[in-house]
Amino acid sequence: MPDTTGTVPDRATGGPRTAPASGAAVRLRGLTKRYGSRAAVDQVSLDIESGEFMTFLGPSGSGKTTTLNMIAGFTGASEGAITVDGTDVAALPPHKRDLGMVFQHYALFPHLTVARNIAFPLEQRKVPKAEIARRVTEALTMVQLADMGGRLPSQLSGGQQQRVALARAVVFNPRVLLMDEPLGALDKKLREQLQGEIARMHRDLGITFVFVTHDQEEALALSDRIAVFNEGRIEQVGTPEELYERPATLFVARFLGESNVFTGHCRTPGVLSGADGDLPVPGRASGAEEVALVVRPERLRLLGPGDPVPAGHHALDGTVTETVYFGAHRRVAVDLPGGHRLQLREPAGQERPAVPGSAARVAWAVERSAVVPVHP
Ligand code: ADP
Ligand code: MG
Repeated sequence: MPDTTGTVPDRATGGPRTAPASGAAVRLRGLTKRYGSRAAVDQVSLDIESGEFMTFLGPSGSGKTTTLNMIAGFTGASEGAITVDGTDVAALPPHKRDLGMVFQHYALFPHLTVARNIAFPLEQRKVPKAEIARRVTEALTMVQLADMGGRLPSQLSGGQQQRVALARAVVFNPRVLLMDEPLGALDKKLREQLQGEIARMHRDLGITFVFVTHDQEEALALSDRIAVFNEGRIEQVGTPEELYERPATLFVARFLGESNVFTGHCRTPGVLSGADGDLPVPGRASGAEEVALVVRPERLRLLGPGDPVPAGHHALDGTVTETVYFGAHRRVAVDLPGGHRLQLREPAGQERPAVPGSAARVAWAVERSAVVPVHP
């Protein structure tokens, strides 16, 4: 586990953040939500640090929104506790929790101008008029809509509307910003642009962000840490790199990025025996449980005929069955004798690129693979 005490370094630079972290720490303890006999969220415990960018990542129906809504106060918990900077918030209605919220669908007031939309949370909090005007201007500038204050939401594009929603969610200086798939309704290009904006806002504001997405690339790009949800539970919490390089479960390995998976048993310590023969695994893994060896496509390399197997590597022989050109790399499929298809990425500009139908020897560094339980 990473060091979860103290301040969180800036993700882009690794150095201290530009703004002092004024965000709240959010603690979830045994948080559960039942609908009838079914638990939509089941015993979730998580420490979100002050100023952290935490992402809830998981497939549809895994309990992300329900967890976020319990933090926000829109949904009551069946069991468990939520504290914000040490204060139990169970009895507080949403507007007393000091949290900003952005939804997938912009939820702007259609009859109010952009400026009035952003002013709304300040008016509710009885902030003086001059102060409201100043802060609305500041918020509009932050989301690069300085000239658009007089427009109605219907006169803005989807991306612009979502910027307004972001401005409205932070204009009252909340200690935490909660976002539920805020970019889900936007096309890819706009989504990437707004990802950049959200990352910049996080750096500038220094507050805690809790961001929900089912998009693994978005999660990897934005987050300090990611909590991977599956069927109402958190499977693993870690930095993007930890989750990608050292997944704790097969679900996490498959959900984050592509994987080549060999299943079998480690009856002999350090050796996985399965359909593709005996394979060395990192560490001295052993036990009676079924396990999976996970090798990322970019960790596999093709050896030329006569190339020695590099030290610490393991090699398997197969046949190239497919290659697909992707510009910077080529995706290559190699079938093993038993029919197991491996996927790998061959960098562009190879002297002898892989050719379908030809024999191939595929190798990987054993230490760069991971062993995970199949049934955790
Ligand atoms: P996610 O946001 O990860 O897609 P949700 O938190 O929305 O997942 O839902 C988790 C589970 O809880 C789903 O199976 C969903 O159908 C169920 N659920 C959510 N809200 C309700 C509700 N109001 N009544 C009954 N079941 C619900
Ligand atoms: Mg959801």
